[in-house]
Amino acid sequence: MLIKEFISFKLSKSNAKSGIRSTYRQILDIVAPKACLICNGLIPKGSESLCHHCVLRYLPRMYPENRGTMLPGFVRWKVSIWYFKEGQWLQTLIHRLKYSSDYGVGSDLGHMAALLFLSRYPHLAKELTPENSLIIPVPIHPKRRRKRGYNQSYAIAEGWKNVLSSTILDEGVLSRTQFRPSQVGLNKYDRRENMRGIYSVEDPIIYTYRLKHVLVLDDVITTGATCYELCGLLNRLGFKRVSILTLGQA
Ligand SMILES: [Zn+2]
Repeated sequence: MLIKEFISFKLSKSNAKSGIRSTYRQILDIVAPKACLICNGLIPKGSESLCHHCVLRYLPRMYPENRGTMLPGFVRWKVSIWYFKEGQWLQTLIHRLKYSSDYGVGSDLGHMAALLFLSRYPHLAKELTPENSLIIPVPIHPKRRRKRGYNQSYAIAEGWKNVLSSTILDEGVLSRTQFRPSQVGLNKYDRRENMRGIYSVEDPIIYTYRLKHVLVLDDVITTGATCYELCGLLNRLGFKRVSILTLGQA
């Protein structure tokens, strides 16, 4: 294994919060300067794998289509930053994040998503002050978490937090208890019903956050069945302000 690959591997597997990660990052910057995954050009300081130019050029943005989305009553608002389409760059990048241990691409996308959110939805961003907001990355099943080495939504949350400081809910406070109920042959409403009960509370500390504005963070939203189920649980726990932010809308 080449030094660069070895360090990249260590980077993706190490805890994002630990100092070890930043030390590896510094070593990697010296032995192999980072290049953009899309154009192979230099990337700005603070980015891991993507230059801003490519994100703006190759990822088609959704604004203002979000306005027409029908939402359950307990979801305050929902914003997706980019279109998620087969064969396009966002699909490739999210695939790397989920299946190639590329944690950095997730934090880069989270970072850019937050910048675009700030510029396009300043009225919504105002609701998410560091003091009154809480980011909840959508929990994934422990089996998937073990296989992947991390929950991809935490990578996105880390990048997001670099722009819009908020508390990120610790992993394990909420959990996903069922692997993946089959959705084949179900319509939109039955899919929601099928997802009922897939999330549960593991730590009562969640109740201390009830007055916060929660931002449920996920990579891609399709029918919304899983996101809405998590939002519904938070609503039953007494949260009054729950919104959704995803990178992509399929
Ligand atoms: Zn680039």
